[in-house]
Amino acid sequence: MSSADCLFCKIVAGDIPSSKIYEDESCYAFNDVSPQAPTHILIVPRRYIDSMDLASAGDKELLGHLLLTAADIARDQGFAKDGYRVVINTNEDGGQTVFHLHVHLLGGRQFIFPPG
Ligand code: AMP
Repeated sequence: MSSADCLFCKIVAGDIPSSKIYEDESCYAFNDVSPQAPTHILIVPRRYIDSMDLASAGDKELLGHLLLTAADIARDQGFAKDGYRVVINTNEDGGQTVFHLHVHLLGGRQFIFPPG
């Protein structure tokens, strides 16, 4: 996979439509097309990183920014106090299907743990 073949790179570039929630200079957030909760938002870095498995020390600030953005969106959308779940699926056993690192922000219902 290269960034040229990447679905989320095309969404970030606006070449594939998405339902935007938030954007800034380093990330883009949009509604998941197949929501698993009343709110299901994906937060993706603009810069292509395949997965957490291939993230490195140079991505530290960006990874922190993605998580803090998830927290900001949860507060903005009004479900932070009730609670939410942040998920980064990684590689096959982690259930990753789109290989452009992304944070799932899920809210609006109670989640069980451990997940399936
Ligand atoms: P993951 O399985 O962790 O790689 O998550 C990929 C997510 O991308 C899934 O929850 C999909 O429903 C979602 N997804 C796939 N294509 C699109 C799309 N075009 N727009 C929004 N979300 C998408």
